[in-house]
Parts: sequence; C-alpha cells; structure tokens
Amino acid sequence: MAFEGLAGRLQETFNKLRGKGKVSEEDVNQMMREVRLALLEADVNFKVVKDFVSRVKERAIGQEVLKSLTPGQQVIKVVNEELTQLMGGTQSKLNMSPKPPTIIMMVGLQGAGKTTHTGKLSKYLQKQNKQPLLIAADIYRPAAIKQLQVLGEQLKIPVFSMGNEVSPVEIAKKGIEYAKAENRDVVIIDTAGRLHIDETLMNELLQIRDEVKPHEILLVVDAMTGQDAVNVANSFHETLSLTGVILTKLDGDTRGGAAISVKAVTGCPIKFVGMGEKLDQIEPFYPDRMASRILG
Ligand code: GDP
Repeated sequence: MAFEGLAGRLQETFNKLRGKGKVSEEDVNQMMREVRLALLEADVNFKVVKDFVSRVKERAIGQEVLKSLTPGQQVIKVVNEELTQLMGGTQSKLNMSPKPPTIIMMVGLQGAGKTTHTGKLSKYLQKQNKQPLLIAADIYRPAAIKQLQVLGEQLKIPVFSMGNEVSPVEIAKKGIEYAKAENRDVVIIDTAGRLHIDETLMNELLQIRDEVKPHEILLVVDAMTGQDAVNVANSFHETLSLTGVILTKLDGDTRGGAAISVKAVTGCPIKFVGMGEKLDQIEPFYPDRMASRILG
C-alpha cells in the first residue's frame, strides 16, 4: 500500500498522544520532532517540512487546543487539517471548456506513465459520457504510436496519428481539426517524453502549447522518484505553466514524499493519481482523503 512507512510512523507517534488527558507544550514539541523526522524520511522537501511543522506548532500550542477536553485528538486534528492544506485543500477538477473540444496536453519524462495515463484518463472521461479523441504526437519513441493505438482499440476510442515523419505541432493541429469535424468533445494529446529535461523537449512542448492553446497541461510524474518528481514538476511548471499533475505509480510508493510536496513546492495541484498498470486504476486526487490515509 502507498505510504506504509510514513503512515506507520505517524500513527505510532499519535497513539502516544491520543489518550492523554493533559498535553503540554513539550508533548507537542516532542511529537512534532517525530513528525518532522517521519516526513523527511518520506522524502518530503526540507523547506516544506519546516514550514509545516511551524504552522502546526503555532496552532496546536494555542491555548484552546491544549486546554480542550481532548487535547491529544485536537492536536491530531490540526495536523490533519494542515496536511490537507499542504496538498491543495480541496479537490482540483479538470478544467473543461464550455466550448468543445476541451484540449488536454499530456507531458512528462519517458517511463513516467504518460501514455498509460493518456489511456486511463480517456477511459475515465468516457465513463462520464465524454467522447475523447487521442492524438499520437510522440514521434520519437518507436513504439509510442503503436502503444496508443492498441490502447485506443481496447477502449474503443479513436486515435489520430500521422506517423512519425510529420512535426508534432502539425499533428496536434490537424488532430484538433479532425476532432472538431468528428464532434469529439475532449482531445488528449500524448506528447513525447525524454530521459531528461532538455531544451529541445521543452521548446517542442512550448510550440505545441502555443499552437493548440490547451485547457489543461497535465504533467505525468512517477511518485516513486520522490523529490526528483517534485524537481521535474518545478522545471516543467516554470517553462510551460502546468495546470495540474498526474502522480503515477502511487501503488508502489511506500514513502509518499512527492504526493505531499508537489503542490507546496510548485503551486500546481495534483489532479489525478495512478494506482496500478490497469486502465481503470486512476483516481481523482482528494487532499483530505489522502491526509486521512496518511494519518490513519
Ligand atoms: P511513458 O514513457 O511515460 O509513456 O510511460 P508508459 O505509459 O509506457 O509507462 C511506463 C511503465 O509504467 C509501463 O510498464 C506501465 O505499465 C507502468 N505504469 C504506468 N502507470 C502506472 C501506475 O500507476 N502504477 C504502476 N504500478 N505502473 C504503472
């Protein structure tokens, strides 16, 4: 399960506090020392941890909390609320255009799960009675177009492709014209990933963005890479102004650092999480539910 390590450690810390009839300032400080270590071990960004700890302390040491009838519970409630805030507060939904088609651009590094999540997202939207069209704009990875076509066949969703000798900008543009002609109301563009962030990759993505003016630019990042995922998100956001993040492979992520830090570091919300290789293993991201899951 995701977050085992962190959840286990935090629950142990909280259990010590939960039953206490009286909680002192020193108890809170001690607890927050343990929370701080647990978060750092979970690979949460250092500054995020520091700010989080000081916000919780400031609220928890307030007199009403410590003098309440159940001080231990109240302190834990503060931690839960602050953790929820850290991850964005409320659910961040997809921005659907009032005038179809809604254009969604998927970006990310190779191997993060971009193509898989292009399929997952289209299936998710299909279930909401949308009629997606997928555009195969990754012309560099030899199997990418085929992979998308196979996904499309499985899902009975059309895939627009022009092979790998036309520029991705042109493919995206023609794909959208096709979507309009065919009355498809959502277009998802699978763009190329690279092993590392480089200027060529970013320039190409910028060109596509400027040409098609997407309503959503979603970065697909691998949760298992922890703070690296956060750094990748930062770079993409600086160049492209992302509208959201899809955090993948959360099923294999025992630490949870990326889920906790991405929003706080980049300002960009997590909109979906990937929970496995199957096409229905995608879920909207709810900060409050995630916080409760982490805190047990
Ligand atoms: P791309 O290069 O970013 O397009 O990556 P792919 O979509 O080809 O995915 C790379 C690998 O990660 C594949 O083996 C996928 O099955 C796997 N994968 C994608 N998403 C998830 C996920 O949420 N959980 C797990 N466990 N594996 C995933």
